[in-house]
Amino acid sequence: MCRTAAIPDNQEEVVYECRRCGTTVDKDTETCPACNTESIVQYRIS
Ligand SMILES: [Zn+2]
Repeated sequence: MCRTAAIPDNQEEVVYECRRCGTTVDKDTETCPACNTESIVQYRIS
């Protein structure tokens, strides 16, 4: 296991956000805690 040192941890990041109010939620969240809608959208940041 000597190949991990030189490789940057460059995983793409996924942000979950309520479509209605824009609150950022956790990845397992299916319902917005702020406005109770189920419209959660994903944004991928690479
Ligand atoms: Zn919301």
